[in-house]
Amino acid sequence: MNLRESLSFFFFGNVCVGCGHGSQKLDPWLCPNCKEELIVCGEHPIWPGKEDAICLFPMNSLTRNLILAMKYKGMQKIASYLVAHSSVGRKGEALQILEGWGKNMPFIPVPVHNARMRERGYNQSELAAFELSLHCGGKLQKNILKRRIYKPSQTSLGSGARSLNVAGAFEAKNAKSLNLAPKNGVVVVDDVYTTGATTSSCARALKRAGFENIKVCALLYEFPASAVADLAADKKMGWKTESN
Ligand SMILES: [Zn+2]
Repeated sequence: MNLRESLSFFFFGNVCVGCGHGSQKLDPWLCPNCKEELIVCGEHPIWPGKEDAICLFPMNSLTRNLILAMKYKGMQKIASYLVAHSSVGRKGEALQILEGWGKNMPFIPVPVHNARMRERGYNQSELAAFELSLHCGGKLQKNILKRRIYKPSQTSLGSGARSLNVAGAFEAKNAKSLNLAPKNGVVVVDDVYTTGATTSSCARALKRAGFENIKVCALLYEFPASAVADLAADKKMGWKTESN
């Protein structure tokens, strides 16, 4: 940060979460250039794998900084910002896909462990699920899935270990007891999709509980091979990761 930017920060406190440069035109998290970049990279949803799953943005330095600020810096409103600037909020392709999956779908966030909830005070996937439900006319259903056992953070594990780590880690309330129409489908919502191990485990728990037609929507898609490099980058930048 140069002197001008430092002075701007001192007087205005305005630093773009995306590029770290001072700007008086934050909107409210990004400078105009980063905001434009965000809209361009969120124009088309990403199909990450074999599941009925879409991700709203690719993981890149901009989206990565936003999600880290949301998770570790208490900037909860970034969840609504990301959804609003994705092709869901901009009434593009992703919204059409979600609406095509079904009407009034329950949006079920991937739960965080109680200990992490106490430490952080919120579940970023729940924030995302709430925002998606507002845009799609569905309903946030935050008490259907529950974590069973505390497991180490996903970010510190390779893809094989991740699958083992989350296998059986979730349980779901029985569909019949919830006055829902489980055949109409549900959308599992996560913040970052990497190998799909977490959402697959959630889907298995939901199936065991009688749900059908299970879809997945995540804010960001991170190419699995880059996850290890990203963990190293996190530590270098001084971000606190879940494994710390
Ligand atoms: Zn910027």
